Amino acid sequence: MDAPLSITTIMSHAEMIAAENKLISRGANGDITRLTYHDAFVRVAKLANALDRLELAPEARVGTLAWNDHRHFELHYAVPCTGRICHTINPKLFTDQVKFIINDAQNEALFIDPEFIPVIEAMQGDLPSVKHWIALCSANNLPQSTLPNLQAYESLLNREQDSYDWPTLDENRASNLCYTSGTTGDPKGVLGSHRSIVLQCMSQNMASQLGLTSEDVVMPLVPMFHVNAWCMPYSAPMAGAALVMPGPQVSDAQAMTDLINQEQVTFSLAVPTLWSGINQFLNATGTRVPSLNRGVIGGAAGALKLYDEMDRHGVRLENGWGMTELSPIGSYNRYLPEHNRLPDAARADQRLKSGRPLFGIQMRIVDEDGNALPHDGVTTGVLEIRGPWACSAYYGKSREHDWFNTGDVATIDSLGYMRITDRVKDVIKSGGEWISSIEIENAIMAHPGVREAVVIGVAHQHWSERPLLVVVPEDSYPSLTPEQLLSFLEGKIPKWWIPNACEFVDTLPHTATGKVSKKMLRENFNRYQWA
Ligand code: AMP
Repeated sequence: MDAPLSITTIMSHAEMIAAENKLISRGANGDITRLTYHDAFVRVAKLANALDRLELAPEARVGTLAWNDHRHFELHYAVPCTGRICHTINPKLFTDQVKFIINDAQNEALFIDPEFIPVIEAMQGDLPSVKHWIALCSANNLPQSTLPNLQAYESLLNREQDSYDWPTLDENRASNLCYTSGTTGDPKGVLGSHRSIVLQCMSQNMASQLGLTSEDVVMPLVPMFHVNAWCMPYSAPMAGAALVMPGPQVSDAQAMTDLINQEQVTFSLAVPTLWSGINQFLNATGTRVPSLNRGVIGGAAGALKLYDEMDRHGVRLENGWGMTELSPIGSYNRYLPEHNRLPDAARADQRLKSGRPLFGIQMRIVDEDGNALPHDGVTTGVLEIRGPWACSAYYGKSREHDWFNTGDVATIDSLGYMRITDRVKDVIKSGGEWISSIEIENAIMAHPGVREAVVIGVAHQHWSERPLLVVVPEDSYPSLTPEQLLSFLEGKIPKWWIPNACEFVDTLPHTATGKVSKKMLRENFNRYQWA
């Protein structure tokens, strides 16, 4: 039968198999809202009626500036299932970028967490396309605001009926829009379709990938403005898994571990920085998280030390690679039986690979002229991908490629395991040879006195560039010296990769999605003088 793959079918499926399963949401004050999927989908129907009442165009781009909570979840269904496009905006970007994104997408309505209303107030005169401003709160909590006719989300819903006649949508219809922050130039929009989202979720849910089941309780720490929380609002209900939405305080490790234990969370997803915060909290307090047995670490490379220490807390982290242009997951690392029999060091090394492609994704590495390179696990090249949920062109731009150039540098081995060695932009080229900053970072993170470490390339008169190691030391190692760290690397990486210097800093700069920003760090060190 020609039945379209649509987000509406995820909703009706979850209503059938998981209506009474829970959707828990933690608010800014730590207050908990307890819904079932059925309750949430009733509210989704009300919201769909409200969107029609606002007379939003059939393909309107509806913007959100919000944390992970039940209201944001509802928008992820009501907007696309009425045919409109759910546009998640990263409120942590620079003001000019937020303004650019809203204008580029021509948002007709903005749904805003009260916390972000001042951000939008400051630019409201420059947002001509926006006709409706909605605060994601109840009427009682509606803040005073200069936004014209700001309405409370709950007041919108209260007026509406609790059923909706969902249309049958073309599966290729656009459903979700997300902009990459872009390290250079303006942010670029990536438009997903109903079909691309459904296929991504089906592939994620395969047992040899993320493999969510109806026994899971899933808590995405990764925000919904970072590629729909890696699709968890769709993948979890599709699998019949419960969802716990952590709200704004995702960096508060105590609050998050309390929530994990209270709701018996089994599976979570986050960038390395957030996992690291949880790990440090567990180490320092002896708190246990017995229900949490698995999690995805992605968005940036995680260090082996973090994997190992989380193992000791009973949480197996699995490396998932992806990008906004892939909505977002492209590969995932699960072991083969023989990997369990490897000696410790080899098994650890295997673990750091970014895994094998999800069904549907093709991968290759190419040289500077676009020639395909061998999959021997050694040769590095630029990673290119193809697939039914890969972006064919950026929003509003014409189609440019058959293979999408990811901007990542990688190896692929004979079993299909891909390993990211760098971003093209972060690659350090010393005397014409590439040095992998990620491998050096991993090696140094094994030192117990290192809390965070980054390696960047700095201009060098003779070698054109040389690696500089920048470290946030652990407080418990007050006498640690840069020289000790550099000698610690000896024998662990090729001799000529050993950084020429090491600098200690108090903190590292992070991007709006919580990754360490090498770009900002390079700017901080752009006048660095080698001793
Ligand atoms: P974004 O679209 O902002 O999520 O950024 C995507 C980029 O993050 C990728 O192209 C990679 O450079 C990086 N990235 C994502 N996942 C991983 C991972 N598991 N390991 C290393 N880098 C990653």
